[in-house]
Amino acid sequence: MPHGVKKSDLPQKTCQGCGLPFTWRKKWEKVWAEVRYCSDRCRRAKKSAR
Ligand SMILES: [Zn+2]
Repeated sequence: MPHGVKKSDLPQKTCQGCGLPFTWRKKWEKVWAEVRYCSDRCRRAKKSAR
């Protein structure tokens, strides 16, 4: 991550599971384009939702 970037400048997305906005995390740096859920919990919940 480039230095000098403030936390508020990090990219954000809306979780497709809970509908809440979530912020870029280090663990997603390689897959950010594919991230749709704020957590594994939301990802699983989406799958079982009817
Ligand atoms: Zn979520």
